[in-house]
Amino acid sequence: MSLDQLRAGFRGQLLQQDDAGYEDARKVYNAMIDRRPRLIARCVDAADVMAAVQYGRENGLLTAIRGGGHNGGGLGVCDDGLVIDLSRMRGTRVDPAARTVRVQGGCVGGDLDHATHAFGMATPGGTVSTTGVAGLTLGGGIGHLTRPCGLAIDNLLAADMVLADGRFVTASEKENPDLFWAIRGGGGNFGVVTSLQFRLHPVRVVSAGPTFWPVEQAAEVMAAYQEFILGAPEDISGFGAFLTVPPVPLFPSELHGRKMFAIIWCCTAAPEKAEKLTRPMRSVGKPALDHVGPVPFPVLQSLFDPLLPPGLQWYWRADFVKAFGKEAIAAHVAQASRMPAGLSQVHMYPIDGAAHRPAAKDTAFSYRDANFALVIVGVDPKPENAPMITQWCKDYFDAVHPFSSGGAYVNFMMDEGQERVKASFRDNYERLASLKKKYDPANFFRVNQNIRPA
Ligand SMILES: Cc1cc2nc3c(=O)[nH]c(=O)nc-3n(C[C@H](O)[C@H](O)[C@H](O)COP(=O)(O)OP(=O)(O)OC[C@H]3O[C@@H](n4cnc5c(N)ncnc54)[C@H](O)[C@@H]3O)c2cc1C
Repeated sequence: MSLDQLRAGFRGQLLQQDDAGYEDARKVYNAMIDRRPRLIARCVDAADVMAAVQYGRENGLLTAIRGGGHNGGGLGVCDDGLVIDLSRMRGTRVDPAARTVRVQGGCVGGDLDHATHAFGMATPGGTVSTTGVAGLTLGGGIGHLTRPCGLAIDNLLAADMVLADGRFVTASEKENPDLFWAIRGGGGNFGVVTSLQFRLHPVRVVSAGPTFWPVEQAAEVMAAYQEFILGAPEDISGFGAFLTVPPVPLFPSELHGRKMFAIIWCCTAAPEKAEKLTRPMRSVGKPALDHVGPVPFPVLQSLFDPLLPPGLQWYWRADFVKAFGKEAIAAHVAQASRMPAGLSQVHMYPIDGAAHRPAAKDTAFSYRDANFALVIVGVDPKPENAPMITQWCKDYFDAVHPFSSGGAYVNFMMDEGQERVKASFRDNYERLASLKKKYDPANFFRVNQNIRPA
């Protein structure tokens, strides 16, 4: 297929390096990534995606898939190749009677929450509303609703996909079940997902907000947090974090710029129950701020958006963790105390509760025995600070990695190579590699946390 032939049948937009709009279209969320694809195919439907896949394959182009463009390592864009960009495909449809939602492959979290909240329902997604639903889900999908409702993949019912050979298929428990297994954790390795269908849960208002403790109390509070959260009912949740209080009116000015250990709460329990059960944890030590109350779910989901606009420098490292022992906590506190001023953060997401119900081999996502997904991010607006935040992030990781379970959540990694990808899938890697051989033998989809064909 020639470019002219592609153009003749394409409904979306095709952007080459000299076209107006190209510079904006090639940008991804992480400004540390600066890549120049040869062609950006902004698809509007599955037919466009099928044509773009055929064009990329027949012309031997390195091909990236872009959903929300949030990937830390910039896996939604590539140099000198083709980007199949789904950012124009953001339709949603809720079926309130069946309690399901279908979203197109370019939807971001905010699109999903907006659509479902109107019906008093939600499905697990991430914690920032501009993250792509497809990219987040295909890696697993961790967020505020993980303890009560599981990972995003645990609520995925079906996905429509365009495979490397151009075929359009559906993956579900009934249709292509092996492919359905692979895409629940295996990332964008198996094809372009044009739409996803999820199960919904009755979630309208949650008890949410932050409790902050000065970092000097972090050793005591982090140990108490771990014990508390792993023993709490599933409708009580909150992720732990090290952060610096941002200088915004939301927080008292005397706290601005101070380093804190925080819990960002999200409880789906009734408000009185949430208040009663979280109170003991919120009374540990001397909190500097405690602001928990009823919040519409989409408000919580977009709470961090203004602090984290696109265009910042980001450097990522991650691990799965079973338990934070005394030594590990000491290492965390020491590294967090050296956190660069500004937006750098460390999050520890509890991934027990409903996410522990599937067995390690039920989905490609294998770490069902881990209790926390840890992510360390160096974040700064200034490109000249990129080396500094990168070094802090790497040093932090080196200090705490020995206490981890070995692998990491693929969506929280930069490009760290094959061994790290294998460690993240553990015993599921071999099956993934044989399914990759079945569905993408030439490794056409390789701009991702790559699973090589067996
Ligand atoms: C600010 C921020 C907050 C985050 N918070 C969370 C969180 O709370 N929970 C969580 O689990 N993760 C979180 N993440 C990580 C996020 O899951 C990954 O960055 C993920 O890759 C983002 O997906 P995307 O579609 O936006 O990315 P893109 O950069 O567009 O794509 C990344 C990769 O995903 C795959 N992909 C994307 N769309 C498709 C598609 N339609 N079909 C096939 N493959 C596709 C491709 O392999 C692509 O290379 C966060 C990231 C950021 C930057």
